[in-house]
Amino acid sequence: MSETSGPLAAGDPRSIAAYHAHVYYDPQTTRGRAEYLRRRVAAEFPQAKLGRWHDELVGPHTQSMYQVAFPSGMLGPFLPWLMLNRDGVTVLLHPETGDDYRDHTAHAVWFGAVLPLRLEAFPNAAAAS
Ligand code: ZN
Repeated sequence: MSETSGPLAAGDPRSIAAYHAHVYYDPQTTRGRAEYLRRRVAAEFPQAKLGRWHDELVGPHTQSMYQVAFPSGMLGPFLPWLMLNRDGVTVLLHPETGDDYRDHTAHAVWFGAVLPLRLEAFPNAAAAS
């Protein structure tokens, strides 16, 4: 990567300010595992911001979930930790580049399963598809 300053080219990872990990669960069956994972994330990664529990569906999500927001610098230690400690819970990991639609589709990484998303929840869905 070049050292020169200026606007970042499309696809430049330096455009990623932060990440979200969306942790999905079923309120009837896997909430306990999601809760245990949440407690462990809080203990291991105090710089992560844990969002509210959303038993009711919100935004593009088609399963209950909570969000873990964290700065770019935490990705290195968090990724392998999540691989080893996810305990079967489905997780969507995506960068925050400012393009919500792409961040949840082309830029997204899924752990465990790929869940459908309600992409019409994004205002720019029509333009981006
Ligand atoms: Zn998100």
